[in-house]
Amino acid sequence: VPRSEEGRTAKIMVFVRLRPMGRREIELGSKSCVRITDDRDVYLTELSSEMDYLRRLNRVSGRHFSFDAAFSDHATQQHVYSTTTADLVQGVLQGRNGSVFCYGSTGAGKTYTMLGTLKNPGVMVLAMKDLFSKIRQRNCDSNHGVHLSYLEVYNETVRDLLSPGRSLVLREDKHQGIVAAGLTHYKAYSTDEVMALLQQGNLNRSTEPTRLNETSSRSHAILQVMVEYREKDSDVTLVGKLSLIDLAGSERAIATDKRTLRSIEGANINRSLLALSSCINALVEGKKHIPYRNSKLTQLLKDSLGGACNSVMIANVSPSSLQFGETQNTLHWADRAKEI
Ligand code: ADP
Ligand code: MG
Repeated sequence: VPRSEEGRTAKIMVFVRLRPMGRREIELGSKSCVRITDDRDVYLTELSSEMDYLRRLNRVSGRHFSFDAAFSDHATQQHVYSTTTADLVQGVLQGRNGSVFCYGSTGAGKTYTMLGTLKNPGVMVLAMKDLFSKIRQRNCDSNHGVHLSYLEVYNETVRDLLSPGRSLVLREDKHQGIVAAGLTHYKAYSTDEVMALLQQGNLNRSTEPTRLNETSSRSHAILQVMVEYREKDSDVTLVGKLSLIDLAGSERAIATDKRTLRSIEGANINRSLLALSSCINALVEGKKHIPYRNSKLTQLLKDSLGGACNSVMIANVSPSSLQFGETQNTLHWADRAKEI
C-alpha cells in the first residue's frame, strides 16, 4: 500500500453514475444494458444483438461490479455531490488536497456531472457553494482566501479557460510543484459568480473543427480551487487544493481516420488518458515510482493523485445497449482503480 510522507494511505474512492436513456437512443430502439440494483451494485448485461460481435472478440459476457456507491439515472446532482465530494471539501478546509475525476466515453454524462446546467448545477458548482457556506460558518471570512483556476489540456496543449489566448508552458516551481506559467488565479467570493465564470470557461473549451459549437471530446477541463486559511493570532497558513476534472472521452482513437488531424489529436488525448491510467496502475501496484511525467494532464495533477491526496473517480455510463462496449471498458477501468 503506497504511503505518503505523513504515513497517510493513498486512497481512491470509485463511483459509477448511470445517466438516463437519451431521446436519440430511445428512437433508435436501444435497450438498457446496465442495471443498478441497490446503492453499490452494477450489472452489465449482454443483449442478444451484441452476442456474435462479442463472441468474435472473445469477450466475457454480462458481469457484476460493486463500487463505493452506484448512482442510478434518478440520482440528483446534490446526492452525487454529497456522496462523492463533500468530504473532500471538508478536507481542503483542513489543508488537504483532493481530486475528483469524471471518466467515461463521450456522451456518458461527464460534463453534466461536473458542470451541470443552470437549473441542475453539478459537482464543480455545488462544491464551491458548500465551500463558501462552510467558510461562512467558521465566521472568520477575513482569514480565508479562495482562488480558482480553470484550464484545458487539449492536444497536449495547456490553455487558460478563464483568459483564452496562447498556450501555457508548464514549469517546476520550488514551492508549488508543477505550475502553468501565467495561468489566471481568480479570487472568488460567491457561488453565483463562480457559476457564470465556469459556464463562460466551458464555452472557451476547444471545439471539433467539424462541429463548431460542440466541445471537443478530446478536451480535458481542470478546475482547481485553492483555499488558504489562517487561524486568528496564528502565523501558520493551511493551504488545501481541490481539483475537479472533466476528462476527455475515453473511447478509443481507432474509430478516427488515420490521415486527419483528429487522429493526431486522438493520439495525444490518449497520451494524457493513458498516462493517467498508468499512474493509477502504478498506484494500484504500490509502486514507488509513479510516471507523472508522461503527459501534461498527469504533470498538472501530480500533487492531486496518490500520496496524501484523496481522490475520487466517477465513472459515467450510458444505459444504452448501443454503448455496451464503451460501458464495459469504463466499468473495467473503474474496477481496476478501486484496488488502490
Ligand atoms: P459527456 O460530457 O460525457 O460527453 P454530457 O455530460 O454532455 O456527456 O451528457 C450527454 C447528454 O446527456 C447531455 O445532453 C446531458 O445533458 C445529458 N445527461 C447526462 N447525464 C445526465 C443525467 N444524469 N440526467 C439528465 N441528463 C443527463
Ligand atoms: Mg463533455
